[in-house]
Amino acid sequence: MENPKVLIIYTGGTIGMINDPETGVLKPFDFEHLYKSVPELKQFAYTLEAISLGEPIDSSEMQPSNWADIAKTIFDNYVKYDGFVVLHGSDTMAYTSSALSFMLQGLRKPVILTGSQLPIGQIRTDGKENIITSVEIAGMRNELGEPAVQEVALYFEYSLYRGNRAKKISSEHFEAFASPNFRNLAEAGVNIEIIEHVLYKTEQEELVLNTNFSEEIALIKLYPGMPVKALKSLFNFDLVKGILIESYGSGNSFTNADFAKMVGDFINQGGIILNITQCVTGKVAHGKYETSKFFTDFNIISGEDMTSEAALTKMMYILGQDTSRTEKIEQLSKNLCGELT
Ligand code: ASP
Repeated sequence: MENPKVLIIYTGGTIGMINDPETGVLKPFDFEHLYKSVPELKQFAYTLEAISLGEPIDSSEMQPSNWADIAKTIFDNYVKYDGFVVLHGSDTMAYTSSALSFMLQGLRKPVILTGSQLPIGQIRTDGKENIITSVEIAGMRNELGEPAVQEVALYFEYSLYRGNRAKKISSEHFEAFASPNFRNLAEAGVNIEIIEHVLYKTEQEELVLNTNFSEEIALIKLYPGMPVKALKSLFNFDLVKGILIESYGSGNSFTNADFAKMVGDFINQGGIILNITQCVTGKVAHGKYETSKFFTDFNIISGEDMTSEAALTKMMYILGQDTSRTEKIEQLSKNLCGELT
């Protein structure tokens, strides 16, 4: 069997940043610098190739158009490589990994996103281990000789997470991510242990690229004392077609009359609302408390145990499709690629 071929796609992020000597702030730097800082990569019995996607950026600058560029690059190179590693800033990595899982359905090869908390040029960097293990996983094969991982995943500090289940949980620790509602896909110790039975396997025959994402989506996090009337512009159907509500506990909301009216009017105009919980673990259970009856009365969709990042990008994806409202609601309620239990 031929050596695995892995394509590294560099988008930016701390991993490749350097300190600007004039201002002292960290800014993205070119890929050559990063590649030279990890000479260990040459020791792999892999064919490694790398490309930079335009000017490297801090991931806070990521937009759906950048997700589309990454997805398209993977799609265009899909046949040529056995696996892909996307180097990306950690701040919005979980949004990108979620978005890519929806953009690239039918995936049968690994797409591993990674980055670091400290730049690769710094002595204590976490970037080297993250990139080396990500590349190793991207080229790993199972007993059947197929790619070991066949989904979008995120690797950080010895753990591999499903891309649409991961969340950034620390701006400080090297262990910056977690997958609160789903088991990790692999752990890297002396050996890389892949947890076979939790891996996602598509039933789709072919990889389908879909980069039509709607940006007419609003995210509302409920909190006590919220100036409900100030939400009016978010419930403006001319500008917003879908709203993701982050509610309390098992999907509960205050039952304020102004809020109820805005929700009702928005739904009557054809808007779609998806409800997820602010809790890190657990899921929405509409109807459990009287304060969630509000959501059942308006037929609001339960986002079950989805992360905010997955729910938001899923809404963008579903509302970007040329389908009926009923189909959109049906798609939002069901598991598309492992994002919902
Ligand atoms: N601000 C950086 C980014 O997301 C942080 C990081 O890479 O860890 O691009």
